[in-house]
Amino acid sequence: MSWGYDTENGPQEWFKLFPQASGHRQSPVDINTLTAKRDSDLKENCLVWKYVGSDSRSLVNTGHGWKIDVIGNDSLLSGGPLGTNQYRLEQFHCHWGCSDEQGSEHTVDGESYSGELHFVHWNTSKYSSFSEAAAFPDGLAVLALFLKAGNYHPELEKVTQLLPFVMHKGDRITLPNGCDPNNFLPSECTYWTYEGSLTTPPCSESVTWIVLKTPVEVSHEQLDAMRNLNCYDVKAECPANDIKGKLVLNYRPPLPLGNRILREPGEH
Ligand SMILES: [Zn+2]
Repeated sequence: MSWGYDTENGPQEWFKLFPQASGHRQSPVDINTLTAKRDSDLKENCLVWKYVGSDSRSLVNTGHGWKIDVIGNDSLLSGGPLGTNQYRLEQFHCHWGCSDEQGSEHTVDGESYSGELHFVHWNTSKYSSFSEAAAFPDGLAVLALFLKAGNYHPELEKVTQLLPFVMHKGDRITLPNGCDPNNFLPSECTYWTYEGSLTTPPCSESVTWIVLKTPVEVSHEQLDAMRNLNCYDVKAECPANDIKGKLVLNYRPPLPLGNRILREPGEH
């Protein structure tokens, strides 16, 4: 059985096949806003992103959610906790829940959002490929954006309107109009940052997390379109579980922050 989000193959079981999942630098975490350390270096060194919407080329059903693969070398993130290293956007994907009341991986003072978008980058200043970078503590950077049920999001619609074409695991489709990360990101860029891991197996402890404080609104219908995806291959039999193989949720619950420091840009 492959990993997933059911009782028998869900987050509590991942460590059996992926030992890093029980490490001390795991993600997500609950963000306790009162404990965030204000960091003046982060305030002086702004986070800088440059994304090219037409480089978002294909949409795939991974069996664990939807993912957009990004080509080219021009979509970059640097500054803030990343310093002068350039991190290239490799892919972006989404996590959601079985209802609008849950679905984000990070929580804020114990509260969940309806979903969370992850923009996954790797350090091209130091490494030569995504897989090489994923093995190092400063290899990856994920920009996380909370989704809140509310108004319809036009840029997300470029994805959700195509989900009926990638209903099964392994299905892939070209995005005719791309999908522009710039159109998701809020103008006011305040964030929390900490050292963590991938939230899916192999749960590599190589991620600098940048969690944006300002959520964006997406509609209940857009979230429902995601919940309607199937987690199984078109040639496979529909799992005989009570959710009938639907990807109704795909988030990992928060893990202890432990000794790690949560930071935010600000004055001491
Ligand atoms: Zn993710």
